[in-house]
Amino acid sequence: MFALTGLLVVGLAYPPAQLTLGTLVATVVANQMGGIAPDIDQSTAPFWRNLPLAGFLGKTVSRVLGGHRFLTHSILGLVLTGFLTKMFLEFLHPIIPRIDITLVWWGFMIGILSHLIIDSFSKEGVPWLLPLPYKFGFPPIRSWRMTTGEGVEAFLLFPGLLIFNVTFAMLHYHQIIEIFHRM
Ligand SMILES: [Zn+2]
Repeated sequence: MFALTGLLVVGLAYPPAQLTLGTLVATVVANQMGGIAPDIDQSTAPFWRNLPLAGFLGKTVSRVLGGHRFLTHSILGLVLTGFLTKMFLEFLHPIIPRIDITLVWWGFMIGILSHLIIDSFSKEGVPWLLPLPYKFGFPPIRSWRMTTGEGVEAFLLFPGLLIFNVTFAMLHYHQIIEIFHRM
């Protein structure tokens, strides 16, 4: 949900000059994938649990990536992922020529960045500056942060973001309509 919030806010701050329905759908899908992608390093993450051979594969990937909240939860990982994703999308482009891969890439990257921001609000923090071994969080005082997946804060976060997104979209109603008209 926070990935979508990021996409909405950035998308309206820098509205695309051209947008096709295919690009919009691909960008939103990429954005949601980006939103969960950093937790590929966590062998208990939902998408590992839903795959066959999941336990083994999840643990292997997790070990290669340095365990939970390591490389994929840092600026270094963000840059590397951005680079690899760009190459992958450029490779795909001849197959999907009508889709604006730059927008899809931005959707994916905004998804990852929003994941790192939201993880920063949890007690565990995020090692933003790897290879420097420090985990950063907000607020700086650890006991004020959320416990991942628990507590009133986590429970209120989803509906809170949903309300924000709907309100934000309503306030920018005309701008959104204009983008859709250009499709
Ligand atoms: Zn995470």
